[in-house]
Order: sequence, then structure tokens, then C-alpha cells
Amino acid sequence: MRPLKRFSQNFLTNPFYQQKIVDALNIEPEDVVVEIGPGQGALTQRLVQIPSQRCIVIEIDRRMVEHLDDRFGQQIKIINQDVLTVDFCALADGKPLKIIGNLPYHITSPILFHLIDHYQCVAQAVLMTQKEVARRISASPGNKDYGILSVITRAYAEIDYLFEIKRGNFFPTPAVDSAVISLKFFKEIKDIQNLDLFRKIVRSAFNFRRKTLKNSLGRIFEEKVLNSLDQSILKKRPEQLTVDAFKHITNVIDKVLK
Ligand code: SAM
Repeated sequence: MRPLKRFSQNFLTNPFYQQKIVDALNIEPEDVVVEIGPGQGALTQRLVQIPSQRCIVIEIDRRMVEHLDDRFGQQIKIINQDVLTVDFCALADGKPLKIIGNLPYHITSPILFHLIDHYQCVAQAVLMTQKEVARRISASPGNKDYGILSVITRAYAEIDYLFEIKRGNFFPTPAVDSAVISLKFFKEIKDIQNLDLFRKIVRSAFNFRRKTLKNSLGRIFEEKVLNSLDQSILKKRPEQLTVDAFKHITNVIDKVLK
């Protein structure tokens, strides 16, 4: 099958890494496992070897779906759909899912936010992304890669940067290297009163990452709202703030806005 660029089809050909990614998910017999973008089945062939309650795969390319159906038949349930339109909570059926995927790189961030939006229905996700994106997701304050992806993801999940995979392990060879991360989603997020506001504040702050919060948040909140925050916080730039600091800012502003 001719790999399609528009679906980011770069297939992982190295069996060592195929197994290493699957092993990172620590699948238990009672788990419902969902694979995003199975392609020709590089990871799927290993997932079906491990006892689990169910293995569901989500693939947009009809040609791959036919191939997977021939290859794995009743061993898997195939959903031929754009992953961004899949309701993960409907798949979970009460038990949080384990997700795995060598992601299509052109939609990594939308997929990440889609998972975050379903955090209560996802236990863990082991994802391969472009190395630079994995670094941005895992970055800590003060690091040049620290930004919207790092702060928002860290509010919803414990993040582990697992290992890197060089571009030569794929066909066709992509222009970038890859890395695998694990996200263990929190069951509940109790310490942020208003998650939408949290995301709005983080985005606004990092959209002007060289400016102080007084300046960036001043574009979306009135002065009297900002003055509810400590002056020392307002003088900081977003890259200096921890996730806890963003949570604090959100909760203070949320109280004033109510
Ligand atoms: N898992 C395979 C592997 O490791 O070799 C394929 C990974 S390839 C990087 C990404 C896969 O995601 C492709 O099979 C592609 O068709 C599929 N894909 C792309 N966009 C998608 C979408 N919106 N929804 C579901 N699958 C998608």
C-alpha cells in the first residue's frame, strides 16, 4: 500500500521498538486497549498477543482497515473513523481505557487535547510523537520548550518521557526523529475550580511568552481582576511559572469573576 502523506503514514519497521512501545503500556487482562492509527498493524500484531478484555483500533484510512480486518479478524474491533470525532467515554463503558498510538504527526496536538477532554475515561496513554513535540509536552519551567502543551498536559496527567526513536526506523523515512511518552491521567482534578478558565489563562500567557503576566493577561481581564493577584506574580513571565502557580492564578481570578 502506498503510504499517504496526508495521513502522516510513516510505518515503524523496527520490531525492537514496536515491542518496547507496547511493553510501556503494561497491559493487564482486565484492560480495554485502544490503538490510535494502527496502520498496517505494527503495534496491533503485538497487542493481540497480550491477554486483555478488548482491543479496539481507530483508523481513518479505508485501505488499512481492510488489511487489518483480513489480518486480525475477530481479535480486534475496528473503528473506521477520524480519531478526533471518537467519544472515548462511550468506548470506556465505565472502565478507564489504556491508549496506545504512533500518532499521525500533523494532528498530534488536537489528539492530545482530545484525550485531555476525555481524561476521566482514560487511565494511561503511551504515545509516539515527533521528538520536539514530546519534549514540549514534558518540559519543566525555565526550559525553552516549556509552554501551553507542557502546562495544560501536566494539569491532567503525570508525564514520563520514555525513549527516543531515530527516523531510520520508519518507512518511508520521515524528516524528524520521534520520542515515546507516557501520560497517566488523574482520576479527578480537584485543585482547579474552573478548567476552561485555566486553559484560557495558560494560552493567553504563552501567546505573549516574552511579556509579563500583567501585560499578557491585561489583554483579556480588567485591571481590577488582575489586581486580585500578587504584584510579584504579575511581574513574571509565563515560562517562570509552575503548573501550581497557574492553578493558583486561575483560582484567584475565578473567585473575583464570580
Ligand atoms: N501504527 C502504525 C505504525 O506504527 O507503523 C502506523 C502509524 S502512522 C505514523 C499513523 C497512522 O494514523 C496511519 O495509519 C494513518 O492512516 C492514521 N491516521 C491518520 N490520521 C488519522 C485520523 N484522523 N484518525 C485515525 N487515524 C488516523
